Amino acid sequence: MATWDYSLFWEESINQIKEKYTTENKSSHFDMWFAQLAYKKSTENKIEISLPSQFFLDQFIIKNYKQELEDKLLEISGKNLKIDCIIEKNKIVNNNTFSEKNEQKKEEVKKIKKHPDLNADYTFNSFVIGDNSSFAYNAAIAISKNPGKAYNPILISGGVGLGKTHLIQAIGNESYKNNNLKIIYITAENFTNEFIQSLNNKTPQKFKNKYRSADILLIDDIHFLQNKDGTQEELFHTFNALYDSYKQIVFTCDRPVSELKNITDRLKNRFERGLNVDLFPPNYETRRAILETKLTHLKTKMSPDIINCIPPEVIDYIAQNVETNVRDLESSLTKMIAYAELVENKITLEIAQQQLKGRFLLNDTLNINIDIIQRNVANEYNISLADIKGKKRTKTVTLPRQIAMYIAQQLTEYSTTEIGIEFGGRDHTTVMHSCQKINQLIVTDPKLNSKIQYIIKTIKENKK
Ligand code: ADP
Ligand code: MG
Repeated sequence: MATWDYSLFWEESINQIKEKYTTENKSSHFDMWFAQLAYKKSTENKIEISLPSQFFLDQFIIKNYKQELEDKLLEISGKNLKIDCIIEKNKIVNNNTFSEKNEQKKEEVKKIKKHPDLNADYTFNSFVIGDNSSFAYNAAIAISKNPGKAYNPILISGGVGLGKTHLIQAIGNESYKNNNLKIIYITAENFTNEFIQSLNNKTPQKFKNKYRSADILLIDDIHFLQNKDGTQEELFHTFNALYDSYKQIVFTCDRPVSELKNITDRLKNRFERGLNVDLFPPNYETRRAILETKLTHLKTKMSPDIINCIPPEVIDYIAQNVETNVRDLESSLTKMIAYAELVENKITLEIAQQQLKGRFLLNDTLNINIDIIQRNVANEYNISLADIKGKKRTKTVTLPRQIAMYIAQQLTEYSTTEIGIEFGGRDHTTVMHSCQKINQLIVTDPKLNSKIQYIIKTIKENKK
């Protein structure tokens, strides 16, 4: 029988990956994910390695590290070597029981009816509702109960990591469970790719038939369609066909439709035709509730011990500091759990601070100044910087000016007096008045609110 030995390829791959992470200043990343791997043996076209736990394995795959290794192996050996992972607890994790539990649960989960294109974890049940999301959540539930009849189409907008994909897929999962409907979920990107491919393969009719036969069509991330004229045209016709036969259509978008560039007006008009709902960043209380729910979920999925590893003050620390979005909250928690599993069983506040430091840009370290805010708002409203700061009192400049003052008060540590100075030497009572006014407006005018949230997001992102 032939024997294979790829251990040298393996070593070289690991060395090169180590070098890469070290030059990127991410050696802790390497230590966390790659240093835990051990070469076991080679078989034909395969390398068997061991790693410490099921949790580790799941993350290792999800985070694409396995893929990274396989790519590296291909590059070095010129062979398509696949990696087989076995779980072998090392001494650090000897005393925990995460892994076996996890495997048992996995077996149970497999039995539930599952839509092939949907993530079964994205359910209404696992979605934590807060003031930031209750409207969108309730609308989504209404739709899954009454597809095509309640609100059609529905457009869910919100920044990255705020739960758009979770909600749109929850609609799909729930409807799939309860009805015998044809549900299609696709990202706008894949829709575009499939469309192009159908043209290349000369099978455009097949493509049309597929999407026009859906009872529920879920299209995620429609902002991707900007500049894709042909796909927009196709979607426009798909939309009309489905809409006319009372089939449910759901879209998500990472910005207000009015901010989309290079999308035809007639398609924009279709996006906005039904119900538009927004997802906003969660507040502190909701962030805590989300973290606590995730932890409880992990407790049943993995091990009761997990609760003891992550004490309440660490949860509170994450909720206080990770303000950006739910995805960042989740990955902070995941990081703490991985650390607990691999290094130190109990996470202290100090460990959390140290491990999460620098990972999330907190508002007070963003160092946003008033000038940046003024420029962004002026740009958004197509007025000049001079107008924002100046004396003009026409409606086209006063509202943006008040918004800029409001954002300055929200994002910076400046006092209203200091803000007033930056706005052409205005009095602090003027600033206070402006902030109050915007505060009232955002409650009564959701469109304005989402516009302001969008500007804030842009300002923060440009600082990164
Ligand atoms: P988006 O599509 O808006 O970028 P996702 O739907 O992918 O965001 O959400 C990012 C992660 O956060 C997902 O794992 C999702 O399950 C989780 N998540 C988002 N919102 C909530 C929520 N309200 N409750 C529980 N989990 C949430
Ligand atoms: Mg998404």
